[in-house]
Amino acid sequence: MKLPFKQRTISTAVIIPSAIVVAALALLQYRWSTRVSEATAVRLADSLQMSIMNLQKDLFRYFSEISVALRIDPIEDSPADVNRYVRRFAEWKAVTKYPKLVSNVWILTPDAGIKQPASRLNLTAGRFEAGAWPTAFETLRADLQRASAEFPRNRTTAAGRRDEIFNLEDPSAGWLFDPNIPALFHPVNTVSGSVEWMAVELSSQEIQTHIFSDLIRTYFQGTDGLDYLAAVISGTSPGHVLYESDRGFGYPPPADADGTIDFFGRVPPGLTGSPVHVFHAPSNDKGPDPSVKIAWFPFLRETPADADWRLVVRHRRGGALGAFVTEMRRRDLAIGFGVLLVLVLNMGMLIVTSHRAQQLAQLQVDFVTTVSHELRTPLTVIISGADNISKGVVETRQQMAQYGSVISNQAKQLLGLVERILLFAATRQGPLRYNLRVLEVQEIVDDALASAAGILEANGFTVDCDIPEDLPNVKGDRSALSQCLQNLITNAVKYGAKDGKETQPWIGIRARGAGEEVEISVADCGIGISAADLPHIFEPFYRSPSVKAAQIRGTGLGLPLSRSIAEAMNGRLTVDTAPGRGSTFTLHLPCIKSPGTIEAPPASADLAHTS
Ligand code: ADP
Repeated sequence: MKLPFKQRTISTAVIIPSAIVVAALALLQYRWSTRVSEATAVRLADSLQMSIMNLQKDLFRYFSEISVALRIDPIEDSPADVNRYVRRFAEWKAVTKYPKLVSNVWILTPDAGIKQPASRLNLTAGRFEAGAWPTAFETLRADLQRASAEFPRNRTTAAGRRDEIFNLEDPSAGWLFDPNIPALFHPVNTVSGSVEWMAVELSSQEIQTHIFSDLIRTYFQGTDGLDYLAAVISGTSPGHVLYESDRGFGYPPPADADGTIDFFGRVPPGLTGSPVHVFHAPSNDKGPDPSVKIAWFPFLRETPADADWRLVVRHRRGGALGAFVTEMRRRDLAIGFGVLLVLVLNMGMLIVTSHRAQQLAQLQVDFVTTVSHELRTPLTVIISGADNISKGVVETRQQMAQYGSVISNQAKQLLGLVERILLFAATRQGPLRYNLRVLEVQEIVDDALASAAGILEANGFTVDCDIPEDLPNVKGDRSALSQCLQNLITNAVKYGAKDGKETQPWIGIRARGAGEEVEISVADCGIGISAADLPHIFEPFYRSPSVKAAQIRGTGLGLPLSRSIAEAMNGRLTVDTAPGRGSTFTLHLPCIKSPGTIEAPPASADLAHTS
């Protein structure tokens, strides 16, 4: 059903801008989500960089608090009073968050030949107790000796030395660190011949089990556990995983880490430039400067870079940070496009619904126009005939017989029209129930020709019938199928004469077996159907403008009804036409292989159809 131009224009005017708006929204959504995800990635990278640098600072602060608390006094001319370190250490222990961080405090005299080279702080007794060189420091003795030898050489004056050792602005200055024990060292009382060293032995156990895990929790805790998997590793062997938030994360070291930092401020092996690395580029202008120096104690002895403590982190969700951001973007896009899809579907449904409503309205208009026009002609003839009879205009018996025949013909046309409309209405309400039987093609054609005999004769048509005897049978409703053929024959008559120029009007009815089908065709040499009309001729109430202009009567229901009958019999109706040369309509019906086989009709196939 073709909608009027105005309605089509309105629909187009709504559909095209809506489609453009939806496409623009989709594009905007895509671009925004790309930008947002890029910004999110940069923000996450910045915050990760900040977190790992602050974590390192906290660790350094815990260590340097010890050195600040012990405050090694400047060089004195008299032997040092070591008891003040006892007091200071007790003070530190009382206030620190991790009192178990220091496992021992020693005063060591590494020079050879000293009788009791080490004294250990006994906090309970409140004094240093002299004893043998501690086994944990065995390998360090030579290093301490070397450091002692270097010490006086650096010294210029007592005041200079004082500045060097006791820098008030940085009380942690002068302390040396060794990560293997781990321990902090500082020279004390360098005035006497041999240099004594304060050695603060740190607890690996406390660092690994409490300090690292507290720091990781402080900086990477999310709403639902840690946001990042984290490990502190030293070297690359499994034994050198100092801490891991999740079992197996530290070894083998993750290849797709999001960030890493060397706690001692050196550049980790395999990387360049900075001790801090965040692998998803942080923002250039807002993020912390990656080349910033990291504060840590100098080493007491040479330590290979892979013995450093390194923090490695990776985002918990979706693997590395980049993957997490990509997943976030994908999810955002999916939600956005999902919403748009719902919008498009709603729009589509709205368009389809309104199109259907318009079609229905148009159908009603077509129905009223066509039917009232078709009703008017026979009714007018009947009324004027009846008037003439009642007024006594009809005088002879012969005239009366003529009037009777005209009125009867017009009444039959009316009846036919009403039945056609009722049948059409019935097909619109749902599938009709047919009385299916095995039929011979000949009997269907005979029925149709008998019904159309009047119109054929009135118009002087010759019928050329070619139905072979050995055709297979078909299954269908006899009355419906002959009605279908009758419609085609009537059309062939109506449209079979070319502007009245045809001298001998003719139609051809031909039946053929074609594989699984029987084809019954009705051909005429009439006006044919134009390419513009062809797609619409099976639409209800459609009549080509040329036949309307030629005032050929019709309702536009014949072909839609014929097609619905053909389809109800599992067949189809096709047309082959050329304007000016005629048309051939072919009814294709599935054939029954062995002639004479009678199949029982389905239970629902009782006769309910009348034509
Ligand atoms: P009606 O014949 O009542 O108008 P139909 O549904 O039978 O309605 O046919 C629809 C239209 O198809 C016709 O108006 C006509 O334009 C075209 N048509 C149908 N049959 C033929 C034919 N044999 N030759 C030319 N045009 C045809």
